[in-house]
Amino acid sequence: MALLDSLVIGFRRLVRRLGRRWRRVPAATPAARPAAQSESAEPTWRAIVEAVAEPVVVVDRTGVVRQCNSPSIALFGRVRPGQHISIMCRNPELLDAIETVQESREPVTVEILVLGPSLRHMTATVAWLGGASLPPPAPKLLVTFRDRTEEDRLNRMRADFVANASHELRTPLASLRGFIDTLRGPAREDREARERFLAIMAAQGERMTRLIDDLLSLSRVEMRAHLPPNSLADLAEVARNVVQSLEPVATAASITLEMAGLADAAWVRGDRDELTQVVQNLVQNGIKYGRPGGHVTIRLVCERAAASQGKETARRYRLSIADDGPGISPEHLPRLTERFYRVNVTSSREKGGTGLGLAIVKHIVNRHRGDLDIDSKVGQGSTFSVVLDAVEPADAARP
Ligand code: ADP
Repeated sequence: MALLDSLVIGFRRLVRRLGRRWRRVPAATPAARPAAQSESAEPTWRAIVEAVAEPVVVVDRTGVVRQCNSPSIALFGRVRPGQHISIMCRNPELLDAIETVQESREPVTVEILVLGPSLRHMTATVAWLGGASLPPPAPKLLVTFRDRTEEDRLNRMRADFVANASHELRTPLASLRGFIDTLRGPAREDREARERFLAIMAAQGERMTRLIDDLLSLSRVEMRAHLPPNSLADLAEVARNVVQSLEPVATAASITLEMAGLADAAWVRGDRDELTQVVQNLVQNGIKYGRPGGHVTIRLVCERAAASQGKETARRYRLSIADDGPGISPEHLPRLTERFYRVNVTSSREKGGTGLGLAIVKHIVNRHRGDLDIDSKVGQGSTFSVVLDAVEPADAARP
Protein backbone atom coordinates (compact mmCIF):
# COMPACT_ATOMS: atom_id res chain seq x y z
CA MET A 1 0.00 0.00 0.00
CA ALA A 2 2.84 2.35 0.97
CA LEU A 3 4.48 1.51 -2.34
CA LEU A 4 1.27 2.33 -4.28
CA ASP A 5 0.95 5.68 -2.40
CA SER A 6 4.50 6.71 -3.22
CA LEU A 7 3.96 5.77 -6.93
CA VAL A 8 0.80 7.93 -7.09
CA ILE A 9 2.62 10.88 -5.41
CA GLY A 10 5.57 10.53 -7.81
CA PHE A 11 3.24 10.44 -10.83
CA ARG A 12 1.39 13.59 -9.65
CA ARG A 13 4.72 15.42 -9.24
CA LEU A 14 5.78 14.41 -12.75
CA VAL A 15 2.48 15.65 -14.25
CA ARG A 16 2.86 19.01 -12.37
CA ARG A 17 6.45 19.44 -13.62
CA LEU A 18 5.51 18.65 -17.25
CA GLY A 19 2.52 20.97 -16.99
CA ARG A 20 4.84 23.85 -15.93
CA ARG A 21 7.17 23.07 -18.87
CA TRP A 22 4.28 23.03 -21.45
CA ARG A 23 2.96 26.36 -20.08
CA ARG A 24 6.38 27.91 -20.76
CA VAL A 25 5.90 27.45 -24.56
CA PRO A 26 4.42 30.76 -25.80
CA ALA A 27 0.93 30.22 -27.19
CA ALA A 28 0.08 31.81 -30.57
CA THR A 29 -2.17 34.80 -30.12
CA PRO A 30 -5.61 34.51 -31.78
CA ALA A 31 -4.57 37.23 -34.26
CA ALA A 32 -1.23 35.62 -35.11
CA ARG A 33 -2.57 32.06 -35.61
CA PRO A 34 -4.48 32.42 -38.95
CA ALA A 35 -1.65 34.46 -40.46
CA ALA A 36 0.92 31.82 -39.53
CA GLN A 37 -1.33 29.09 -40.91
CA SER A 38 -2.02 30.81 -44.20
CA GLU A 39 1.67 31.64 -44.58
CA SER A 40 2.78 28.03 -44.08
CA ALA A 41 -0.15 26.15 -45.63
CA GLU A 42 -0.45 28.07 -48.91
CA PRO A 43 3.14 27.68 -50.22
CA THR A 44 3.26 24.10 -48.93
CA TRP A 45 0.28 23.11 -51.05
CA ARG A 46 1.69 24.80 -54.10
CA ALA A 47 5.16 23.37 -53.51
CA ILE A 48 3.86 19.82 -53.09
CA VAL A 49 1.72 19.96 -56.24
CA GLU A 50 4.59 21.52 -58.21
CA ALA A 51 7.08 18.94 -56.94
CA VAL A 52 5.10 15.98 -58.31
CA ALA A 53 6.70 14.69 -61.51
CA GLU A 54 3.42 13.53 -63.06
CA PRO A 55 0.70 15.96 -64.16
CA VAL A 56 -1.38 16.88 -61.09
CA VAL A 57 -4.41 19.15 -60.72
CA VAL A 58 -6.24 20.21 -57.53
CA VAL A 59 -9.91 21.08 -57.89
CA ASP A 60 -12.51 22.45 -55.49
CA ARG A 61 -16.04 21.16 -54.79
CA THR A 62 -17.42 22.80 -57.93
CA GLY A 63 -14.77 21.25 -60.19
CA VAL A 64 -12.82 24.49 -60.59
CA VAL A 65 -9.04 24.05 -60.89
CA ARG A 66 -7.31 25.58 -57.89
CA GLN A 67 -3.76 24.45 -58.54
CA CYS A 68 -1.97 22.73 -61.41
CA ASN A 69 1.69 21.83 -61.82
CA SER A 70 3.98 22.41 -64.82
CA PRO A 71 3.63 18.85 -66.23
CA SER A 72 -0.17 19.29 -66.30
CA ILE A 73 0.21 22.59 -68.17
CA ALA A 74 2.62 20.89 -70.59
CA LEU A 75 0.12 18.07 -71.14
CA PHE A 76 -3.13 20.05 -71.46
CA GLY A 77 -1.85 23.48 -72.43
CA ARG A 78 -5.20 25.11 -71.67
CA VAL A 79 -5.27 24.44 -67.91
CA ARG A 80 -5.23 27.52 -65.60
CA PRO A 81 -6.27 27.98 -61.95
CA GLY A 82 -9.79 29.43 -61.78
CA GLN A 83 -11.04 27.52 -64.84
CA HIS A 84 -13.42 24.58 -64.70
CA ILE A 85 -11.65 21.26 -65.23
CA SER A 86 -13.87 20.52 -68.25
CA ILE A 87 -12.02 23.27 -70.16
CA MET A 88 -8.87 21.25 -69.66
CA CYS A 89 -10.33 17.82 -70.36
CA ARG A 90 -13.84 17.10 -71.59
CA ASN A 91 -13.65 13.38 -70.96
CA PRO A 92 -17.07 12.38 -69.52
CA GLU A 93 -15.57 9.53 -67.41
CA LEU A 94 -13.22 11.98 -65.70
CA LEU A 95 -16.02 14.46 -65.01
CA ASP A 96 -18.21 11.61 -63.66
CA ALA A 97 -15.32 10.44 -61.46
CA ILE A 98 -15.03 13.93 -59.95
CA GLU A 99 -18.73 13.78 -58.99
CA THR A 100 -18.51 10.19 -57.72
CA VAL A 101 -15.51 10.81 -55.45
CA GLN A 102 -17.29 13.76 -53.80
CA GLU A 103 -19.99 11.27 -52.73
CA SER A 104 -17.96 8.16 -52.02
CA ARG A 105 -14.66 9.79 -50.90
CA GLU A 106 -12.95 6.72 -52.33
CA PRO A 107 -10.33 7.19 -55.10
CA VAL A 108 -11.47 6.41 -58.66
CA THR A 109 -9.19 5.71 -61.65
CA VAL A 110 -10.39 6.18 -65.21
CA GLU A 111 -8.73 5.68 -68.59
CA ILE A 112 -8.74 8.73 -70.85
CA LEU A 113 -7.42 9.67 -74.29
CA VAL A 114 -5.82 13.10 -74.55
CA LEU A 115 -5.75 14.81 -77.93
CA GLY A 116 -2.71 16.92 -78.71
CA PRO A 117 0.08 16.85 -81.27
CA SER A 118 -0.29 13.07 -80.82
CA LEU A 119 -2.97 10.96 -79.16
CA ARG A 120 -1.96 9.98 -75.62
CA HIS A 121 -3.40 7.23 -73.48
CA MET A 122 -3.56 8.29 -69.82
CA THR A 123 -5.02 7.10 -66.55
CA ALA A 124 -6.51 9.76 -64.26
CA THR A 125 -6.92 9.05 -60.54
CA VAL A 126 -9.28 11.28 -58.59
CA ALA A 127 -8.68 11.27 -54.82
CA TRP A 128 -10.58 12.99 -51.98
CA LEU A 129 -8.56 15.52 -49.96
CA GLY A 130 -11.00 16.03 -47.08
CA GLY A 131 -12.38 19.28 -45.62
CA ALA A 132 -16.02 18.48 -46.50
CA SER A 133 -17.42 21.60 -44.81
CA LEU A 134 -15.02 24.11 -46.37
CA PRO A 135 -16.57 26.16 -49.20
CA PRO A 136 -14.79 26.80 -52.54
CA PRO A 137 -11.99 27.66 -53.26
CA ALA A 138 -10.86 25.11 -50.64
CA PRO A 139 -9.15 22.21 -52.45
CA LYS A 140 -11.29 19.08 -52.39
CA LEU A 141 -9.93 16.69 -54.98
CA LEU A 142 -6.53 15.76 -56.33
CA VAL A 143 -6.45 14.51 -59.93
CA THR A 144 -3.24 12.68 -60.87
CA PHE A 145 -2.55 11.77 -64.49
CA ARG A 146 -0.25 9.00 -65.66
CA ASP A 147 0.87 8.72 -69.28
CA ARG A 148 0.52 5.12 -70.47
CA THR A 149 1.37 5.75 -74.15
CA GLU A 150 5.02 4.67 -73.91
CA GLU A 151 4.11 1.69 -71.73
CA ASP A 152 1.50 0.62 -74.33
CA ARG A 153 4.06 0.99 -77.11
CA LEU A 154 6.60 -1.14 -75.21
CA ASN A 155 3.97 -3.78 -74.43
CA ARG A 156 2.97 -3.89 -78.10
CA MET A 157 6.64 -4.16 -79.11
CA ARG A 158 7.21 -6.98 -76.63
CA ALA A 159 4.13 -8.87 -77.84
CA ASP A 160 5.19 -8.39 -81.51
CA PHE A 161 8.69 -9.54 -80.66
CA VAL A 162 7.49 -12.74 -78.94
CA ALA A 163 5.08 -13.42 -81.83
CA ASN A 164 7.86 -12.90 -84.42
CA ALA A 165 10.41 -14.99 -82.52
CA SER A 166 7.90 -17.82 -82.04
CA HIS A 167 6.96 -17.69 -85.70
CA GLU A 168 10.62 -17.78 -86.78
CA LEU A 169 11.25 -20.81 -84.57
CA ARG A 170 8.01 -22.56 -85.42
CA THR A 171 8.74 -22.70 -89.17
CA PRO A 172 11.95 -24.78 -88.98
CA LEU A 173 10.46 -26.79 -86.12
CA ALA A 174 7.41 -27.71 -88.23
CA SER A 175 9.73 -28.67 -91.08
CA LEU A 176 11.83 -30.87 -88.78
CA ARG A 177 8.75 -32.64 -87.40
CA GLY A 178 7.41 -33.19 -90.92
CA PHE A 179 10.67 -34.82 -92.03
CA ILE A 180 10.83 -36.96 -88.90
CA ASP A 181 7.32 -38.30 -89.68
CA THR A 182 8.28 -38.94 -93.31
CA LEU A 183 11.46 -40.75 -92.31
CA ARG A 184 9.54 -42.89 -89.84
CA GLY A 185 6.81 -43.67 -92.39
CA PRO A 186 6.85 -43.50 -96.19
CA ALA A 187 10.60 -42.90 -96.59
CA ARG A 188 11.66 -45.49 -94.00
CA GLU A 189 13.36 -47.72 -96.57
CA ASP A 190 14.29 -44.99 -99.09
CA ARG A 191 18.01 -44.48 -98.61
CA GLU A 192 18.38 -41.66 -101.11
CA ALA A 193 15.40 -39.70 -99.72
CA ARG A 194 16.74 -40.20 -96.20
CA GLU A 195 20.07 -38.56 -97.05
CA ARG A 196 18.34 -35.65 -98.74
CA PHE A 197 15.92 -35.11 -95.85
CA LEU A 198 18.65 -35.35 -93.24
CA ALA A 199 20.59 -32.60 -95.03
CA ILE A 200 17.51 -30.36 -94.97
CA MET A 201 16.92 -31.19 -91.31
CA ALA A 202 20.51 -30.27 -90.46
CA ALA A 203 20.06 -26.90 -92.24
CA GLN A 204 16.83 -26.22 -90.31
CA GLY A 205 18.58 -27.10 -87.05
CA GLU A 206 21.38 -24.66 -87.90
CA ARG A 207 18.80 -21.98 -88.65
CA MET A 208 17.21 -22.46 -85.24
CA THR A 209 20.65 -22.30 -83.58
CA ARG A 210 21.47 -19.04 -85.43
CA LEU A 211 18.16 -17.55 -84.39
CA ILE A 212 18.63 -18.49 -80.74
CA ASP A 213 22.22 -17.16 -80.79
CA ASP A 214 21.00 -13.85 -82.24
CA LEU A 215 18.14 -13.62 -79.73
CA LEU A 216 20.60 -14.18 -76.88
CA SER A 217 23.05 -11.60 -78.28
CA LEU A 218 20.27 -9.05 -78.58
CA SER A 219 19.06 -9.66 -75.05
CA ARG A 220 22.64 -9.42 -73.67
CA VAL A 221 23.23 -6.11 -75.43
CA GLU A 222 19.87 -4.75 -74.31
CA MET A 223 20.61 -5.62 -70.70
CA ARG A 224 23.85 -3.62 -70.84
CA ALA A 225 22.46 -0.77 -72.96
CA HIS A 226 22.73 1.78 -70.13
CA LEU A 227 26.34 0.83 -69.26
CA PRO A 228 28.82 2.46 -71.63
CA PRO A 229 31.90 0.25 -72.17
CA ASN A 230 34.97 1.24 -70.17
CA SER A 231 37.65 -0.83 -71.92
CA LEU A 232 39.59 0.21 -75.00
CA ALA A 233 39.53 -1.51 -78.37
CA ASP A 234 41.53 -1.05 -81.56
CA LEU A 235 38.87 -0.77 -84.28
CA ALA A 236 41.42 -1.40 -87.05
CA GLU A 237 42.58 -4.64 -85.44
CA VAL A 238 38.95 -5.75 -84.90
CA ALA A 239 38.17 -5.10 -88.59
CA ARG A 240 41.32 -6.86 -89.83
CA ASN A 241 40.46 -9.98 -87.78
CA VAL A 242 36.88 -10.05 -89.04
CA VAL A 243 38.03 -9.74 -92.65
CA GLN A 244 40.49 -12.57 -92.14
CA SER A 245 37.86 -14.86 -90.58
CA LEU A 246 35.25 -14.13 -93.28
CA GLU A 247 37.65 -14.52 -96.23
CA PRO A 248 36.57 -18.16 -96.91
CA VAL A 249 32.85 -17.19 -96.78
CA ALA A 250 33.49 -14.33 -99.24
CA THR A 251 35.46 -16.59 -101.59
CA ALA A 252 32.61 -19.14 -101.53
CA ALA A 253 30.21 -16.34 -102.56
CA SER A 254 32.65 -15.06 -105.25
CA ILE A 255 33.08 -11.76 -103.44
CA THR A 256 36.40 -9.98 -102.96
CA LEU A 257 36.99 -8.31 -99.58
CA GLU A 258 39.07 -5.13 -99.77
CA MET A 259 40.59 -3.20 -96.87
CA ALA A 260 41.48 0.49 -96.71
CA GLY A 261 42.93 2.48 -93.82
CA LEU A 262 43.21 -0.52 -91.50
CA ALA A 263 47.01 -0.47 -91.11
CA ASP A 264 47.25 1.91 -88.12
CA ALA A 265 45.72 1.43 -84.68
CA ALA A 266 42.39 3.19 -84.14
CA TRP A 267 41.60 3.26 -80.43
CA VAL A 268 38.06 3.71 -79.27
CA ARG A 269 36.36 3.19 -75.94
CA GLY A 270 34.61 -0.08 -76.59
CA ASP A 271 33.96 -3.73 -75.93
CA ARG A 272 36.15 -5.71 -78.34
CA ASP A 273 33.73 -8.68 -78.62
CA GLU A 274 30.74 -6.47 -79.27
CA LEU A 275 32.61 -4.42 -81.90
CA THR A 276 33.70 -7.67 -83.54
CA GLN A 277 30.05 -8.67 -83.75
CA VAL A 278 29.14 -5.33 -85.33
CA VAL A 279 31.80 -5.61 -88.04
CA GLN A 280 31.04 -9.31 -88.57
CA ASN A 281 27.30 -8.69 -89.09
CA LEU A 282 27.94 -5.84 -91.52
CA VAL A 283 30.60 -7.66 -93.56
CA GLN A 284 28.43 -10.82 -93.61
CA ASN A 285 25.51 -8.74 -94.93
CA GLY A 286 27.81 -7.24 -97.59
CA ILE A 287 28.71 -10.77 -98.68
CA LYS A 288 25.11 -12.09 -98.44
CA TYR A 289 23.39 -9.23 -100.26
CA GLY A 290 26.29 -8.04 -102.41
CA ARG A 291 26.83 -8.80 -106.10
CA PRO A 292 28.36 -12.19 -106.86
CA GLY A 293 31.70 -11.39 -108.45
CA GLY A 294 31.63 -7.97 -106.78
CA HIS A 295 33.55 -6.27 -103.94
CA VAL A 296 32.96 -5.47 -100.30
CA THR A 297 35.23 -2.67 -99.07
CA ILE A 298 36.02 -2.20 -95.39
CA ARG A 299 37.37 1.31 -94.95
CA LEU A 300 38.47 3.17 -91.83
CA VAL A 301 38.90 6.94 -91.80
CA CYS A 302 39.52 9.42 -89.03
CA GLU A 303 37.23 12.44 -89.12
CA ARG A 304 37.28 15.76 -87.33
CA ALA A 305 34.08 16.16 -85.36
CA ALA A 306 32.76 19.38 -83.88
CA ALA A 307 34.12 19.37 -80.32
CA SER A 308 31.30 19.22 -77.83
CA GLN A 309 31.15 19.32 -74.07
CA GLY A 310 31.62 16.02 -72.29
CA LYS A 311 33.24 14.40 -75.34
CA GLU A 312 36.70 12.94 -74.84
CA THR A 313 37.89 14.07 -78.21
CA ALA A 314 36.95 15.90 -81.33
CA ARG A 315 38.20 13.06 -83.53
CA ARG A 316 35.94 10.25 -84.65
CA TYR A 317 36.57 7.01 -86.52
CA ARG A 318 34.26 6.05 -89.37
CA LEU A 319 34.36 2.38 -90.27
CA SER A 320 32.32 1.80 -93.41
CA ILE A 321 31.41 -1.44 -95.11
CA ALA A 322 30.42 -0.84 -98.72
CA ASP A 323 29.15 -3.35 -101.25
CA ASP A 324 28.31 -3.00 -104.93
CA GLY A 325 25.13 -5.11 -104.72
CA PRO A 326 21.56 -4.24 -105.78
CA GLY A 327 21.13 -1.65 -102.99
CA ILE A 328 18.01 -0.94 -100.92
CA SER A 329 15.01 1.26 -101.83
CA PRO A 330 14.79 4.41 -99.69
CA GLU A 331 11.45 3.45 -98.10
CA HIS A 332 13.09 0.49 -96.34
CA LEU A 333 16.08 2.37 -94.92
CA PRO A 334 14.46 3.81 -91.75
CA ARG A 335 13.15 0.36 -90.71
CA LEU A 336 16.23 -1.79 -91.43
CA THR A 337 17.39 -1.85 -87.79
CA GLU A 338 14.00 -3.01 -86.46
CA ARG A 339 13.99 -6.58 -85.19
CA PHE A 340 12.92 -9.07 -87.84
CA TYR A 341 12.54 -6.37 -90.49
CA ARG A 342 13.68 -7.69 -93.87
CA VAL A 343 13.41 -6.19 -97.33
CA ASN A 344 12.81 -9.63 -98.77
CA VAL A 345 11.98 -12.35 -96.23
CA THR A 346 12.50 -15.28 -98.61
CA SER A 347 15.86 -14.02 -99.83
CA SER A 348 17.02 -13.36 -96.23
CA ARG A 349 15.98 -16.88 -95.14
CA GLU A 350 17.66 -18.47 -98.15
CA LYS A 351 20.87 -16.69 -97.23
CA GLY A 352 20.64 -17.84 -93.61
CA GLY A 353 19.43 -14.47 -92.27
CA THR A 354 17.50 -14.12 -89.02
CA GLY A 355 16.40 -10.50 -89.44
CA LEU A 356 18.17 -9.60 -86.19
CA GLY A 357 21.69 -8.73 -87.44
CA LEU A 358 21.18 -4.99 -87.90
CA ALA A 359 19.09 -4.71 -84.70
CA ILE A 360 22.09 -6.14 -82.81
CA VAL A 361 24.44 -3.72 -84.63
CA LYS A 362 22.24 -0.74 -83.77
CA HIS A 363 22.01 -1.70 -80.08
CA ILE A 364 25.77 -2.18 -79.75
CA VAL A 365 26.51 1.11 -81.51
CA ASN A 366 24.01 2.88 -79.22
CA ARG A 367 25.67 1.36 -76.17
CA HIS A 368 28.99 2.73 -77.46
CA ARG A 369 27.34 6.17 -77.85
CA GLY A 370 28.21 6.01 -81.55
CA ASP A 371 26.26 6.48 -84.79
CA LEU A 372 25.17 4.04 -87.47
CA ASP A 373 24.75 5.63 -90.92
CA ILE A 374 23.09 3.71 -93.73
CA ASP A 375 23.44 4.93 -97.28
CA SER A 376 22.14 2.97 -100.25
CA LYS A 377 21.30 3.56 -103.88
CA VAL A 378 19.29 1.06 -105.87
CA GLY A 379 21.52 -0.49 -108.55
CA GLN A 380 24.72 0.88 -107.01
CA GLY A 381 25.15 -0.75 -103.61
CA SER A 382 24.93 -0.02 -99.89
CA THR A 383 27.29 1.47 -97.32
CA PHE A 384 26.85 0.88 -93.58
CA SER A 385 29.07 3.11 -91.42
CA VAL A 386 29.79 2.94 -87.72
CA VAL A 387 31.10 6.19 -86.25
CA LEU A 388 32.79 6.16 -82.83
CA ASP A 389 34.72 8.74 -80.80
CA ALA A 390 38.46 8.30 -81.03
CA VAL A 391 40.47 7.95 -77.82
CA GLU A 392 43.71 9.94 -77.71
CA PRO A 393 46.88 7.78 -77.85
CA ALA A 394 47.85 8.98 -74.34
CA ASP A 395 44.64 7.44 -72.94
CA ALA A 396 45.02 4.37 -75.13
CA ALA A 397 48.44 3.74 -73.55
CA ARG A 398 46.78 3.00 -70.20
CA PRO A 399 43.85 0.70 -70.87
P1 ADP B 1 19.24 -10.64 -92.00
O1 ADP B 1 19.57 -11.67 -91.02
O2 ADP B 1 17.94 -10.87 -92.71
O3 ADP B 1 20.36 -10.35 -92.93
P2 ADP B 1 19.71 -8.02 -90.91
O4 ADP B 1 19.08 -7.38 -89.71
O5 ADP B 1 21.16 -8.19 -90.91
O6 ADP B 1 18.93 -9.37 -91.11
O7 ADP B 1 19.30 -7.15 -92.16
C1 ADP B 1 17.93 -6.77 -92.33
C2 ADP B 1 17.62 -6.67 -93.81
O8 ADP B 1 18.33 -5.57 -94.38
C3 ADP B 1 18.05 -7.86 -94.62
O9 ADP B 1 17.08 -8.88 -94.60
C4 ADP B 1 18.21 -7.26 -96.00
O10 ADP B 1 16.93 -7.20 -96.61
C5 ADP B 1 18.65 -5.83 -95.70
N1 ADP B 1 20.11 -5.65 -95.86
C6 ADP B 1 21.04 -5.67 -94.89
N2 ADP B 1 22.26 -5.43 -95.38
C7 ADP B 1 22.12 -5.27 -96.70
C8 ADP B 1 23.03 -4.97 -97.77
N3 ADP B 1 24.34 -4.83 -97.56
N4 ADP B 1 22.51 -4.86 -99.02
C9 ADP B 1 21.19 -5.00 -99.23
N5 ADP B 1 20.28 -5.26 -98.27
C10 ADP B 1 20.74 -5.40 -97.02
